[in-house]
Amino acid sequence: MSADMINAVKEFDWNQIQTYEVSAFVRDFVAKLDSYITTSSKLDLAKDVAFLAITGHFIAFIEDYLIKFGIFGSLYKLFNTIYGYIFQCLYSLPIVRGTVKKRIDIELAKIEPGIIERNEKFVDNFVLPKKGFSRSEIEKTIKQFEDFKHADIAKLSGTVYHGGSQLRELQAHVYGMFTFANQLHPDCFPEIRKMESEVVSMVLDLYHGPKGSCGTTTSGGTESLLLTCLAAREYARHNRGLTEFEIVAPVTVHAGIDKAAHYFGMKLIHAPLNHRTMKVDTNAVKRLIGPNTVLLVGSAPNFPHGIIDDIEKLSDIAIENNLPLHVDACLGSFVVPFIPDAPIFDFRVPGVTSISCDTHKYGFAPKGSSVIMYRSPELRRYQYFVSTDWTGGLYASPTLAGSRPGALSAGCWATLLYMGRSGYEKSAKEILGSAAKIRDALKCHPDLFFIYGEPIASVVAFGSTAFNIYDLDDAMKKKGWHLNALQNPPAIHMAATYLTKTSVDQLIVDLVESAKELVANGSDASASSGTKALYGVAGSVKTANVAGKLAEGFIDFLYKP
Ligand SMILES: *Cc1c(COP(=O)(O)O)cnc(C)c1O
Repeated sequence: MSADMINAVKEFDWNQIQTYEVSAFVRDFVAKLDSYITTSSKLDLAKDVAFLAITGHFIAFIEDYLIKFGIFGSLYKLFNTIYGYIFQCLYSLPIVRGTVKKRIDIELAKIEPGIIERNEKFVDNFVLPKKGFSRSEIEKTIKQFEDFKHADIAKLSGTVYHGGSQLRELQAHVYGMFTFANQLHPDCFPEIRKMESEVVSMVLDLYHGPKGSCGTTTSGGTESLLLTCLAAREYARHNRGLTEFEIVAPVTVHAGIDKAAHYFGMKLIHAPLNHRTMKVDTNAVKRLIGPNTVLLVGSAPNFPHGIIDDIEKLSDIAIENNLPLHVDACLGSFVVPFIPDAPIFDFRVPGVTSISCDTHKYGFAPKGSSVIMYRSPELRRYQYFVSTDWTGGLYASPTLAGSRPGALSAGCWATLLYMGRSGYEKSAKEILGSAAKIRDALKCHPDLFFIYGEPIASVVAFGSTAFNIYDLDDAMKKKGWHLNALQNPPAIHMAATYLTKTSVDQLIVDLVESAKELVANGSDASASSGTKALYGVAGSVKTANVAGKLAEGFIDFLYKP
């Protein structure tokens, strides 16, 4: 810094700010600044400006971290960053990289047979057949696939949201009527336009959309979440002039929000939970809001623990900070609206600006369908894409896809009409009943299990202090069950579906029996925290993102001939 500049700052009597008239203060400061600018060399000036810019940014950065994460949280983040950096340096050494890669390949080779099932009997079709198959040949080929090892769909957590075989026949019929229809051209398919708009209306009604509320259908929960984040970003860009965008959401929020942040160049800031209720800590949410925050998110309920966040508190915070609030009811779907005495979480809460609801979960619509709803058309408009100067003509599209499958809208529309309010009420009662049965059973064995929070929806997440909870997941797999393994903290969960009503009693028997066996065999509860417990690889290589590389290898397998 030049001496002139330092003197100008030093000479200034800061104590006088209160007694000075503001105008005099400004005049004095401007005069000093003016003389400094006219007397300093250009080089000095440039140096000072750069210095101020850098230190200013740095101090603001530190302050931001201290406010958001506290002293220990900031130190922890700093430690993690340095640790990660050192590890990355180490990892870039060829010898280390080679060893890690070898280890990953060994692990992947172990996973492969579980994903790619080979059967010598099957004829492979890796290129187009020279001459097309007849219908009976295709049916014969599909018949062979029955030899694949299939999961028992009544023994799955979530995954298959079946509404019964009569509904399935109806869906196949209606879907078949419109397989060629494309919603991108509403002028060609006016009936599809009508059906889509009615689907949105029916779901809005279920979630108490006020006058003026609106929405669009999408291909699934993830697309609904992507669009709400995109709309929040574009809204902030146009109305607040922001160029950086932050989302504040619970750590338990669905990974689709993470995906949105990744795709759309936004930053996701995770808010911690209240460890007793497992709802997002709303004080933390308040602290994490900054000048670049463009969206708050809560879940009704979240995927991991099936807990509904305190939407009314989040709404207060959103209104206070003039921010949009999204409620992720993708999983809540057609069950949460029917929970007796549930806290309100929909458009009746004034700060809620958008809600996502998956018609392809507990709505039982054919897979590939969800609805994103907004309180007003003004917000919805920001998810649209319009190009006015494309050589191909004026192009306008409401969602991420270009061409959109009209058959899915028709299938969803027929499903909603077929089920009706009473149908969904009945299915919700059965699903909630299954979840309650699981909760009650686990509570009868406090020595074996503990439940996370107080879930009231379809999901029950639990852990154990008596054995390694991931061992229980393995034991249940051997009995044909597919539960979901969670992490941070270690847990597994079961999402009841319409189908589990027939299997829930067996589930409880198997859970208790397996847990008792694990205790008898000395399964170690303390071993369930490390990375190894979940991914089968040691935690010491966590920073090399071994789990991430395994996941990439897993996806590669999906397309392996
Ligand atoms: C399933 C789910 C989603 C995303 O749904 P997809 O249809 O799989 O994209 C979003 N949020 C929650 C809470 C979910 O359970």
